[in-house]
Amino acid sequence: MSTPAKKTATNARKKATAPPTYANYIQGAWVPSKNGEVFANHNPADTRDIVGYFPHSTAEDIDAAVAAAAEAYPRWRLVPPPKRAEYIFRVGEILIRDKEAISRDMTREMGKVLKETRGDTQEAIDMAYFVAGEGRRLYGQTTTSELANKFAMTVRDAIGVCGLITPWNFPIAIPSWKILPAILCGNTVVIKPAEDTPLSVYRFVKAFEEAGLPPGVVNLVTGYGETAGAPLVTHPTIRLVSFTGSTQVGRLIATQAADKGKKCSLEMGGKNALIVMDDANLELAVEGAVWGAFGTTGQRCTAASRLIVHKKVIKKFTQMLVERTQALRVGPGLDPANEVGPVINQDQLERVLHYIDIGQTQDKAKLLCGGKRLTEGDLAHGYFIAPTVFGDVAPQAVIAQEEIFGPVTAIIPCQDFEEALAIANGVGYGLSASIYTSDINRAFHAMRDLETGICYVNAPTIGAEVHLPFGGVKGTGNGHREGGLQALEIFSEWKTLYVDF
Ligand code: NAP
Repeated sequence: MSTPAKKTATNARKKATAPPTYANYIQGAWVPSKNGEVFANHNPADTRDIVGYFPHSTAEDIDAAVAAAAEAYPRWRLVPPPKRAEYIFRVGEILIRDKEAISRDMTREMGKVLKETRGDTQEAIDMAYFVAGEGRRLYGQTTTSELANKFAMTVRDAIGVCGLITPWNFPIAIPSWKILPAILCGNTVVIKPAEDTPLSVYRFVKAFEEAGLPPGVVNLVTGYGETAGAPLVTHPTIRLVSFTGSTQVGRLIATQAADKGKKCSLEMGGKNALIVMDDANLELAVEGAVWGAFGTTGQRCTAASRLIVHKKVIKKFTQMLVERTQALRVGPGLDPANEVGPVINQDQLERVLHYIDIGQTQDKAKLLCGGKRLTEGDLAHGYFIAPTVFGDVAPQAVIAQEEIFGPVTAIIPCQDFEEALAIANGVGYGLSASIYTSDINRAFHAMRDLETGICYVNAPTIGAEVHLPFGGVKGTGNGHREGGLQALEIFSEWKTLYVDF
């Protein structure tokens, strides 16, 4: 999180550099923030490149957006779900048409390599088609009553105006997981995207406009968490808050939402374990560890930030992993030769370097590769960090317990399968875990006993499919699942109907 003062740009500076200025989307119109202020959005691979200026919105803008959503709600709620789905289907078609341009913009504003931003956009397309298909399947149940001449049934009902708050690491995919099921269920929404990735959500919302969605159903307000996100959470008209982001902010939001009696769904941090047993295919495990740890520059909630490796194979695994990591090409994500982009911003750069320092000093772990900022050549103006591997990390070390959210992973030795599971479960998070083994019994034991919402066998800790539930336990979530039919449980309420005849 950056403070507003750090990024707020004056109008004079805006004119001097002349990148585009974007607007909020409220009641079907593009409007500036009420205070007229904007903030600059930088390319993390080259901070001299200003991607654009975005409204630095405050409570007044949130009020306007929530009022628009509240006005649209009674009509939208009565639009039959298959008709709501038609708009969503059209959004999917527009995203397909614009996929390459959107993905390039996303790489420019967020940093991850083009292959990954294409995947991010594709996820929103997949979600649009999946959710649109559900428009004809918003089934309830019919049943009999215990009384004569009485009929009973259940239907899904909309909730009202939803406040959606999203992070920057999946700039379109995560907003799609929220907006699409929310509006399919008959809700109207106000989204406040991360301050680092407003352009991607702007492009997404443009697709709703082009699809002809009625004004007020989807509203976009850009700005900072403290000044635009907080008033959205506490706004009296908001009935549901759906948040994805850090556990620290999520817990704050949960408290505020509970205090006002709002429904609240949280998807938060992770500290995911990838277990390598002595019978694993090591080539496969190393490949999985590299992409699990360094894909999206390690900035995934599902990143493999702990590699728990059996003592019999740890020497070989470590050697192979370090070789493979050192060969990764780090650089701007728009160059197809690069495999790892920058971290998102200055705060994140400092945070990751701080953890690298803790790993060496406080945790006394062995730095095997990486461990520093990269500034040579065209990396000089970006937030690049060499992919970093620590060895001999104790399970209770700070770098093995806290979410770093950067290109850093920790190899933790284990004696046997039981110890591997105990280490894997010995953290406060529970999003994703994976095990590499050729023993089917071990695989099933692991799937049964790992305390996570998602579990992989012979695959890394990353990669979600839209038709399946996604989310975590312990410090990662509060019992909800996004994706799949389970998302409908977040964005609708059951209503029970009795009919006497
Ligand atoms: P973050 O700092 O918690 O921010 C998330 C969102 O909340 C941003 O839009 C942020 O605005 C806003 N926000 C910050 N303070 C707020 C407040 N007081 N009231 C209302 N909104 C507020 O997280 P991040 O750095 O963007 O994302 C990284 C985190 O997200 C990691 O912990 C990662 O594990 C987690 N994540 C989880 C999942 C999952 O599904 N479990 C998926 C992706 C990411 P600003 O941008 O202005 O700060």
